[in-house]
Amino acid sequence: MERLDAFMARANAAYYASHDPFADFTTSPEITQVFGEVLGLWAAVTWEAMGRPDPVLLVECGPGRGTLMADALRAVAQAAPGFRTALRMHLVETSPRLRAAQAVALPEEVAWHDDLASVPAGPMLLLANEFLDALPIRQFVRRDGAWMERFVSDRSFVEAPVKDGTFLLPLPPGEGWGEGSRKHKPQTYTAASPDQAGPALRGLPHPDPLPEGEGAVLELCEPACAIAADVATRVTRNGGAALFLDYGPEQSALGDSLQALQNGKPADPLAAPGEADLTAHVDFAALARAASGARVHGPVPQGLFLARLGLFQRSGRLARTQPPAKAASLMQAAQRLAEPDRMGRLFKTLCIAHPDLPMPAGFEP
Ligand code: SAH
Repeated sequence: MERLDAFMARANAAYYASHDPFADFTTSPEITQVFGEVLGLWAAVTWEAMGRPDPVLLVECGPGRGTLMADALRAVAQAAPGFRTALRMHLVETSPRLRAAQAVALPEEVAWHDDLASVPAGPMLLLANEFLDALPIRQFVRRDGAWMERFVSDRSFVEAPVKDGTFLLPLPPGEGWGEGSRKHKPQTYTAASPDQAGPALRGLPHPDPLPEGEGAVLELCEPACAIAADVATRVTRNGGAALFLDYGPEQSALGDSLQALQNGKPADPLAAPGEADLTAHVDFAALARAASGARVHGPVPQGLFLARLGLFQRSGRLARTQPPAKAASLMQAAQRLAEPDRMGRLFKTLCIAHPDLPMPAGFEP
């Protein structure tokens, strides 16, 4: 029997080490070069606002084929040569297979890391597209008035009671869970004794009021929250900003969002570990809470963010220099990324920045 997050970590490590994930799904940088270009320019503009530190770390988490970074570098070399000279590239990537692809796509100066912990301290700009959704989650299910945790055994879910917990005090009223609650502020949590708190969810910032409905599912991505907290500490100490683009709701929401893609099609997440890509929705409100200390901007819908950054203008300018078929596909790609009923609304952009940094581009109210 394996806890769901352990199962998911093992399955995804095997999947990314042995498969070309882009055979199963595509991502924004693979859809259009303009995505990486505008994110590179966002980083350059933010670097100006930071006072042009030299050197500055340019970090990407989960760079896939290296496409986003290659497109960003090209745009930056042209539009912001000072930033291009100042930046030091650090990639956080665990898959040897994808590291090899990144080495082909990018200049030799890249340094790789297994996780953020070994990235040196310093002023930093960080980009992460569809990285957090691949990180392992835990799931809790409400049964007979108590919380059970989901484990995986023999390719199916089993539920075990949550025990031995230090329970955490509820969020202040109105700062809670679910649609309709007020915007989340960063929170700190104080441990209460388990008997004060009833059935325990160990170490979890749990919703208030706890959902009572039989079968309610609550998800928690501890590594994503740990990364948000680490990034917040780093940018607050040394300056900088981090941009996370991923899909998920603005407010923490109940429900099972674990999904698998195998051979490009939805699959049973437990059936074939290592053969399918496992993802879950990103809980942006939880990230924002974890990033307390830094300033959190957004989340704003990806479509709005990219449109503000000039996705359509840049795609249009590029299209004018291309043959008609390529020009049309560039404009269609921009629409796919930005239209609300496609990737524009479900995908969100969140920025964790130094508290004194002016409002980053794209996050204006
Ligand atoms: N950002 C890319 C790729 C997204 S796929 C794009 O937009 O195209 C997810 C990426 O995260 C892959 O590069 C994968 O190998 C990497 N990844 C997944 N889990 C990881 C982990 N725990 N630590 C570091 N990288 C991870």
